[in-house]
Amino acid sequence: MSRIKILVVDDEENIRLLYSEELKEAGYDVMTAKDAFDADRKVAEFNPDLITLDIKMPGMDGIEYLRKFRENDKTTPVVLCTAYSDYKKDFKIWASEAYVVKSFNLDQLKATIKEVLEKRGISDED
Ligand SMILES: [Mg+2]
Repeated sequence: MSRIKILVVDDEENIRLLYSEELKEAGYDVMTAKDAFDADRKVAEFNPDLITLDIKMPGMDGIEYLRKFRENDKTTPVVLCTAYSDYKKDFKIWASEAYVVKSFNLDQLKATIKEVLEKRGISDED
């Protein structure tokens, strides 16, 4: 039995720590990345089963990174994490990916992750 691997991409350190701590507690194997370029390296190194992706990041933002990521990987689920004000700026992307509005309470994020993994048939049984 191997644990499900989640890559948390966010430019804010306190968010990376919070998500990492809570997702580890929920039984996932977690790695973090601080920007899109770091995410590219960690994807190659860690081979995550799911990615949580912040939208607002300096350099390449989450939407731009997602577009680039999807050119090579059509299947790995991505959960977009956004502040309410940025929500649904780019309708096409929102229609095709899971998303949560950012909160310090991670219940919604954890529920969405669980739902997406179940939908894709990804489990820690194999
Ligand atoms: Mg951010």
